[in-house]
Amino acid sequence: MPLTACPSCGSRYGVRRQDVGRTIRCTRCETRFPAEVAPDPRRFLRGSHPVGLVVGVLCLAAAAALVGWVVWAVVQAGDLNRAVHGVEGGETVRRCLQVAAGCLVAGAILVARWWLTRDPDPF
Ligand SMILES: [Zn+2]
Repeated sequence: MPLTACPSCGSRYGVRRQDVGRTIRCTRCETRFPAEVAPDPRRFLRGSHPVGLVVGVLCLAAAAALVGWVVWAVVQAGDLNRAVHGVEGGETVRRCLQVAAGCLVAGAILVARWWLTRDPDPF
């Protein structure tokens, strides 16, 4: 629930989303004031915030690019076994596959988290 503060006495109140912008009365000092809420600085960490979707899609794109590079390396080597286990570039290919797997998991989690918690309410 968003919080607002009385401009006269500083008392803090939870405000229902539909009451934001309406005039409310402080129960402590009786001052009437518009219920305004400051944006929550932690809002970027909420699952429903679009930044999670953007980061997740970037992770998935990075995973796709890394897998694409590995496929290219395999085609260049002419053999999957030689590309992954060969002396030249084998370590790089294995690292790329590990990072791609990490990006895939992180991206899938972030996109799923956003999908499951998305909320059309802007607050
Ligand atoms: Zn007050």
